Amino acid sequence: MALTLYNTLGREFQAVNSLVPGQIGFYGCGPTVYNYAHIGNLRAYVLHDILVKTLTRRGYRVTHVMNITDVGHLSGDNDSGDDKMVKSAEERGKGVLEIAEFYTQAFFNDTERLNIQRPTVVCKATDHIADMIGLIKRIEDRGFTYFAGGNLYFDISRFPSYGDLALLRMDELRTGARTGPDENKRNPQDFVLWFTKSKFENQALVWDSPWGRGYPGWHIECSAMSIKYLGEQFDIHAGGIDHIPIHHTNEIAQSEAATGKHPWVRYWIHNEFLVMDKGKMSKSAGGFLTLQSLVDSGYDPLDYRYFLLGGHYRSQLQFSFEALNGARNARKSLLDRVKALAEKTGLIPVLAETDGGYGKADAYLEAFDAALDEDLSTPKALASLWTLLRDTEVSPQEALSAAFTMDRVLGLGLAKEAEGVWNRVENQDFVREIAALIEERQAAKKYKDFVKADGIRDALKKRGIILEDGPSGTLWRRE
Ligand code: AMP
Ligand code: ZN
Repeated sequence: MALTLYNTLGREFQAVNSLVPGQIGFYGCGPTVYNYAHIGNLRAYVLHDILVKTLTRRGYRVTHVMNITDVGHLSGDNDSGDDKMVKSAEERGKGVLEIAEFYTQAFFNDTERLNIQRPTVVCKATDHIADMIGLIKRIEDRGFTYFAGGNLYFDISRFPSYGDLALLRMDELRTGARTGPDENKRNPQDFVLWFTKSKFENQALVWDSPWGRGYPGWHIECSAMSIKYLGEQFDIHAGGIDHIPIHHTNEIAQSEAATGKHPWVRYWIHNEFLVMDKGKMSKSAGGFLTLQSLVDSGYDPLDYRYFLLGGHYRSQLQFSFEALNGARNARKSLLDRVKALAEKTGLIPVLAETDGGYGKADAYLEAFDAALDEDLSTPKALASLWTLLRDTEVSPQEALSAAFTMDRVLGLGLAKEAEGVWNRVENQDFVREIAALIEERQAAKKYKDFVKADGIRDALKKRGIILEDGPSGTLWRRE
């Protein structure tokens, strides 16, 4: 069983083969914290979560690094326009770092409600200026930069594989239209590594550097922080498809120019956009939907997660409230089914990580794993969960055990729903009594007092409770 991903670099499906056996270094571009994340941004982070959890289920130790962009993100994404952080701080009459802190908290509040696991390392750009300066120096020492008009630029003509990720042709690039009038650039795609006073006079945050007092360009933070925490070469890098032609293309150029190592990243994965009826959802254009706005309209955040999992990450997903209602209804039926199964069985080891041993449910778990191996096909993985829960031939314990195992990746809150049933007051005494009897029987078996052990089993049977001994201990169900 091998996880296969569609690698944007080379545009082909590839089996994941990690640099260090058993370990994965993964970097996902994090949020720019000048406003709330919109529900489109959250699509990217649900994908990262599915990837991390799938890799973990495959036995990898994953180091997941996420940056927080709290400085130098320009609205044109190409060194043009306003600085979004500064603009937001000015509009709200607050300091840049205060704004960043507020929206960082809001971001993690959203991801937590979506059952998105916290990355191993969360790193802020403003805490890593020295690392960025160090990396820029290496790029400069290797001859990939020029200084013009107070800014230090990356010279793409020195980096022949510049267009590889985005399938851009270098000869076409040079004659291509310019995105912004910057007299200093030799090529339209050259980009700033370090700004000084020559641009954006109103910068609140500036640092000393070998090129003068100023601030970093946007792209350098991802190169500097990923290299710091994952090494000069690592396994997987993710972001939205908008990042392919500029941000990620520039990240590769900087990183490989600095280290001389190729490839910097082995697998690049990119999520397609979530789109509205009216078109693209954009943070800078305003008027976007947040997770909180869905909650205010009565949805559970996990309804939105369910909605996202219903589409493959490389397909555009159209958001509408009708579609979200569909997801809510589907998740509700799923939870109802889990509740019904939980009523029929005793507490089962919800947290036990297993790879099967669930009898008839195993075939569904295999189909589930195969679906995720196929470039993280969450729609197919959801379908295996559904068919499992609909199959009346599968015993309630085995169905629930397999469903909970699947939900460690899907994150739809299934175990919590079952626990709700088992923790119900009227069930508690009963469940506790049975658990105590099972324990007594285990002890009797240990001391070879089979008369007592069988006596407990028979007494429970008379009350309609069947005990089943399995690899994860003794489970019980109602007859
Ligand atoms: P930002 O906070 O603007 O840097 O974006 C955070 C992440 O969300 C990036 O990986 C973007 O590529 C991604 N993204 C932005 N808009 C959308 C959208 N409408 N649908 C899916 N992903 C998006
Ligand atoms: Zn990035």
